[in-house]
Amino acid sequence: MIDERFKGIEPFKEKIWLSSPTMHGEELEYIKEAYDTNWMSTVGKNLNEVERICAEKIGRKYAVALSSGTAALHLAIRLCAEKLYGQPKLPHGCLEGKKVFCSDMTFDATVNPVAYEGGEAVFIGTEYDTWNMDPKALERAFEIYPEVKLLVIAHLYGTPGKMDEIRRICDAHGALIVEDAAESFGASYKGVQTGCFGDVSVISMNGNKIITGSSGGVLLTDDKVQAEKVRKWSTQAREDAAWYQHEELGYNYRMSNVIAGVIRGQLPHLEEHIAQKKAVYERYSEGFKNLPVKMNPFDADNSEPNFWLSCIIIDSEAMCEQVRGEKKALYISEKGKSCPTEILEMISIFNAEGRPIWKPMHCQPVYRLNPYITARGSGRAISNAYIKSDESIIDSGEDIFERGLCLPSDNKMTAEQQDRIIEIVKRSFE
Ligand SMILES: *Cc1c(COP(=O)(O)O)cnc(C)c1O
Repeated sequence: MIDERFKGIEPFKEKIWLSSPTMHGEELEYIKEAYDTNWMSTVGKNLNEVERICAEKIGRKYAVALSSGTAALHLAIRLCAEKLYGQPKLPHGCLEGKKVFCSDMTFDATVNPVAYEGGEAVFIGTEYDTWNMDPKALERAFEIYPEVKLLVIAHLYGTPGKMDEIRRICDAHGALIVEDAAESFGASYKGVQTGCFGDVSVISMNGNKIITGSSGGVLLTDDKVQAEKVRKWSTQAREDAAWYQHEELGYNYRMSNVIAGVIRGQLPHLEEHIAQKKAVYERYSEGFKNLPVKMNPFDADNSEPNFWLSCIIIDSEAMCEQVRGEKKALYISEKGKSCPTEILEMISIFNAEGRPIWKPMHCQPVYRLNPYITARGSGRAISNAYIKSDESIIDSGEDIFERGLCLPSDNKMTAEQQDRIIEIVKRSFE
């Protein structure tokens, strides 16, 4: 409910989005080129250019343009699974009966392909330094499940995870890495772009990512045979024969040359979008200086995020009472305190879009029976059997979800608009 505290703040006439597409004009030219040359298909120059430019920008040998980041993750996981366990025998998936270590604080698209292939995701706890996979929890997971050979890791909100430690641990156990850089295109860790840290890596260009084709994803690898396999699988796995000949399972996952035109037009603007997102992040940081909140953290010595989303986490002492059910939330407003539910409600009343932190996978009903391993506890996700070695230990993923939220992070926000968001957040604590 809007009350006295918010007096004098004007609602936004036009909605301020969490992260909306930013078009520049070149997109139309490339779409038109596809139209004029009649390459209205999953073949054409735009596709070739998107692949060439992505590989070059990120620093990988091969890029394959696909219909979505999720499709790219699915094929990345299939590539690794086949390398580890061989070709699947229909009707079984290629991960049948296998466990796969996965990020817990992420969007479910990161982990769903493991289930598509009959595997079981084991969720690995989150660290507070970058809100990504905790290497200590990963180390523990390998102690508990030494047979695991595959890891799927995401860089949340465009902030790189602790990739040196993660890679060292995986190498020690002979495990492959699928890197989900869907949110972090353009971010780097120790001078190397995300998208280079996986045996196979993935970026996404869906409608709210830092650059967009309206949809689309790209798979990255340094292995030519893998790249060719993915091209084949993504076009129904047709063999080189006069008729439709199929020796393995295929998909309709190839990117359209029209979509590729949009992406080709966007690619030169990646750095500009990152600079705008960074300015948004920095303006929020400055604006919240005297509030009991912190921005989503990153390792400033070793990494350069792409600042895709700006988030805050409220200090525990400044949290008012908040209760979340499966689909609804309630809170009790309290002087000097606030909570994500209240702030998000206020942001929405003033016609802007925020969002709760991505609800951790181990808290999702669909994955309630999957194992969950943290640095100091383990068990089944939410079947009430998550055992902590010490009752005082806080579940970091749940805690960040409880106290955190994503702010409107659109790169087209003006300073005045952003200041108004800052004011709304401030007044929520009055
Ligand atoms: C967006 C996103 C995906 C999926 O990408 P799509 O292109 O929407 O299929 C996967 N993982 C993460 C972390 C994402 O944010």
